[in-house]
Amino acid sequence: MHMVFENPTIREILDRYKQIWALRHASALMDWDVQTYMPPQGIEHRSIAIAQLSLLSQKFITDPSFIALVEKAEGAELNDYERGVVRVLKREIKYNTKIPPKLLEEITVTTQEATVAWREAREKSNFSLFRPRLEKIIELSRQVAEKLGYEKHPYNALLDLYEEGFTVADADAIFSKLVPSLRSIINRQKMPPHSPLEDVKYERGPAEAMINDILRTMGYDFNRFRVDVSPHPFTIGLGPRDVRITVRYEGIDFKRVLFSAIHEGGHALYELQLDESLAMTPIFDGASMGIHESQSRFWENIVGRSKPFVEAMYPIMKKHLGFLNAYSPSDLYIYFNTVKPSLIRVDADEVTYNMHIAVRYELEKLMLTGEIKVSDLPELWNRKMEEYLGIHPSNDAEGVLQDIHWSQGSIGYFPTYTLGNLVAAMVGHFAGKLLDEVAELKFDGLKAWLREKIHRYGATYDPKTLLKKSFGESYNPDYLINYLSRKYL
Ligand code: MG
Repeated sequence: MHMVFENPTIREILDRYKQIWALRHASALMDWDVQTYMPPQGIEHRSIAIAQLSLLSQKFITDPSFIALVEKAEGAELNDYERGVVRVLKREIKYNTKIPPKLLEEITVTTQEATVAWREAREKSNFSLFRPRLEKIIELSRQVAEKLGYEKHPYNALLDLYEEGFTVADADAIFSKLVPSLRSIINRQKMPPHSPLEDVKYERGPAEAMINDILRTMGYDFNRFRVDVSPHPFTIGLGPRDVRITVRYEGIDFKRVLFSAIHEGGHALYELQLDESLAMTPIFDGASMGIHESQSRFWENIVGRSKPFVEAMYPIMKKHLGFLNAYSPSDLYIYFNTVKPSLIRVDADEVTYNMHIAVRYELEKLMLTGEIKVSDLPELWNRKMEEYLGIHPSNDAEGVLQDIHWSQGSIGYFPTYTLGNLVAAMVGHFAGKLLDEVAELKFDGLKAWLREKIHRYGATYDPKTLLKKSFGESYNPDYLINYLSRKYL
């Protein structure tokens, strides 16, 4: 039997948690099906089923006898894993007991309507169609912050939902260092803004074969892992032996599908390398959104866009995509690493990307405190884009309306993207010589090291504690600045 959980109260908690896990397991799979294979009209009844399962698991989480067990365990002498279980469950209990059901329902209804309104607003490039919904979402987010409680800044309560323990003070310190450094790198770097390969078309079949070949070469075991297609690429971990990613074949500019496969593959590897003895427990999960994103960005950027990786994978790419015969490995390297300040975040290169997040972070923070009005947002957005990237959106669709996040009520989520990039660069720094093995298409050493430093613990530790334990410090922007300077200057 597993020796990880010895305390009898913890064992009782985990026994009861299995029901919650099973409900979530089912709804995760149902959600994956929505994004991949469900016929479109199935959505109406599927949404009801998912909502009902979520109500059920909420009922189990907030059951007074379950809460009493968690409180009892808190007073006992526990090992790190057991303490992790208590910590994660207490966060869930807090959210589900402090936010009244009526507010939760209002959020669900508002965000569903807002997402529909946002789609129309973006299509028509008309912010006023979305404005009243966003005002409501900001108001509800404020209420959530008040109910959860916070120190110093209401935004801290929301940041903590996505990145435990991360605060406005942390974010301000990071962005105040990152933004001027990035501006200087953007101005001085010499990578071309375009590559002819961006306009080359490809067939889905050969591209799919290439991606499978590359993922197999990187060691993904297709008995525990699979790749499907969905409109927006994502990763889902259903357990230690069932992790799935999705990609999207657009038929042009193959680096988009290649790097989203490597990106999602990084998320998947985290899930695949969680310690199996934590399965079906609350800590069988990533440490945070930022730490999870660091694993995808590490493989996508630090490894995938590096010269050794590009050179070593070149024969595999060429084998499947015949048009690459006309291009050298260094053409490919340039194609994968062009730099250009652009309007759309999801298309941004690794040099300009965090400027997009800085814009959103500043605006979210000011909206939440009411220092700026939602009605002024489009103009402020355009001004910030000008200030940070020197470019100006010509309409709201390519400006303030481009991202779905706000319509879904995800206020406080954007900064985790930058944390992902910061931590990816930290990981790259501390991986040191292990990165050299990539040139020989050897990934086992790197993967074992990642498992040891990050993956195996799941959510045993909060993200700052995990980073300090594994690397001796928490989110430090210097590594990213150094990495980008070395690569691009
Ligand atoms: Mg990601």
